[in-house]
Amino acid sequence: MCIRTIPSGLAPVLAILLLVAGCGAAGSQAEPLARRVAAGPPDGSAGGATAADRVHRVAVARFSHETCTFCPGGDVEVEDWLRTGQPQRGEELLTRGGGYVSGFVTQAREYLDMELIGLESPRGVWGGSSRSWNTEETFDHFVDRMLDDLREAMPVDGVFLALHGAMAVRNVPRPEAEMARRFREVVGPDVPIVATFDLHGNECDEFMRWADGAFVTKRFPHYDAYRQGQRAARYIRSVMRGDYVPAIATRRPPILTPTVLQWTGASPLMDVMERARRWEDRQPGAFVNVFLGFPWADVPNLGVTVHVMTNDNQALADQIADDMSEFIWRVRSDWAHGEFPLPREAVTLARQAIAAGEAPVVLADYWDRPGDATWTLRALLDQEVDGVLYASLTAEPTLDRIWEQGLEPGDAVDELVGGYTGEQAGEPVRITGTLRWKGQRFGYDRVAVIDYGRNSTLVLVPAYHQVTTPGTIRFAGIEPDDYDVFVLKTRVHFRRGFDETGYAPSIFIVDAPGDWFGTIRLEALEYENVDIGNYYPFGR
Ligand SMILES: [Zn+2]
Repeated sequence: MCIRTIPSGLAPVLAILLLVAGCGAAGSQAEPLARRVAAGPPDGSAGGATAADRVHRVAVARFSHETCTFCPGGDVEVEDWLRTGQPQRGEELLTRGGGYVSGFVTQAREYLDMELIGLESPRGVWGGSSRSWNTEETFDHFVDRMLDDLREAMPVDGVFLALHGAMAVRNVPRPEAEMARRFREVVGPDVPIVATFDLHGNECDEFMRWADGAFVTKRFPHYDAYRQGQRAARYIRSVMRGDYVPAIATRRPPILTPTVLQWTGASPLMDVMERARRWEDRQPGAFVNVFLGFPWADVPNLGVTVHVMTNDNQALADQIADDMSEFIWRVRSDWAHGEFPLPREAVTLARQAIAAGEAPVVLADYWDRPGDATWTLRALLDQEVDGVLYASLTAEPTLDRIWEQGLEPGDAVDELVGGYTGEQAGEPVRITGTLRWKGQRFGYDRVAVIDYGRNSTLVLVPAYHQVTTPGTIRFAGIEPDDYDVFVLKTRVHFRRGFDETGYAPSIFIVDAPGDWFGTIRLEALEYENVDIGNYYPFGR
């Protein structure tokens, strides 16, 4: 069953959720958690050595995607993953694998008894979280490559997976759990599998049927990816040594919120994560995870999940999980609602802020995942706002023309930009100006910068790019300090450099002028795999 123990106060809502989440297959039962007491290497090769004093071989893999199944652009194929570069494996994965992997590897290598094996792992999807469903073949392709490497590396004593949690795959309802299941098939029942996740993951207890631990970021922006990797390394080592026997509790308070409302820099989510840290401080050996969920993946286990691990103390795991779940439920109304100005109104507010000396202003098109929507650009031109740094607009057709025509910096540009991916993207907007720069940036081969109007600059990218700090757009001679307005295609990550640093005194989250994917009006979306009427605040 999906929820191991139902807390009294939440019994009615969680009973509903059993239907919503559909976590456990009929007749499925979680593996007994005490099975993990280390019993020596699978091949008995270190005969005589105890679990605590031998070298532990740990396989490391990464497979991470936040999938927006409602986004346009069609299904994601293997080539979409390869377009960001060839997969990494071995030492390249271990040393250049990104935050979670890097935290895990750094910590593991501080111990002298951990040997790491990097399994072939894809980098990321072209267009990242603006991309839709992965095909089943794509998922199988990359997982098969990992498992091939794993089989070659056997025997191993542990598996570390750097995941996201919001991957969506056609015909695979819970991809991360399915991955853990396939790894389990290879390593057998006694080898611990531990993963790191993004707090935007949609998980239930299915992952933990096949794994032994999860470490989820507690901050959005995700400052703590590296730290969660480090914690995962300490944890898996203690499980391999037989010092830690995971007791796990999972709760699913039925709440569904758009990511723009999930900033952990403000209450009550700051309090939720603080409460999780407080439990961890008070109870040595307790680990408390809160997934906030990702609503733009049409998957059955959408929404909030609490995972708690303790060292062989099921009662304590249940107590903490109940407390967290009840607290999250109590404060739900304070983070499940939001209201934001539409583009014209937001631009008017920006003008007022500039006039009042409260610049620079951030206008965040939070809902525009493809990044080609022009509503805010149109409103800025109509209201004749100068000093705009628009970073960035997804505009591959314009980049094609700039490269095909061989335009060079200083050349005149007269282009219709944006509005490619559907009615939500608005009409293309005519931009006349000068090409300031073209070249490689943000991991893309082709990026262009156009100066237009009075002191305004437009950064064009071939696929969705989220600008999170002024520093990343200090290139091509651009000096962010010289602009009054930043238009960013981001929900919360921009707070890292523009808000939590005090850089931009005025911030306006801009809403979509329609009930399109990406907006906070989730009830307008056609979910096929989940009934959001069973979640707060969409409940009937
Ligand atoms: Zn995230």
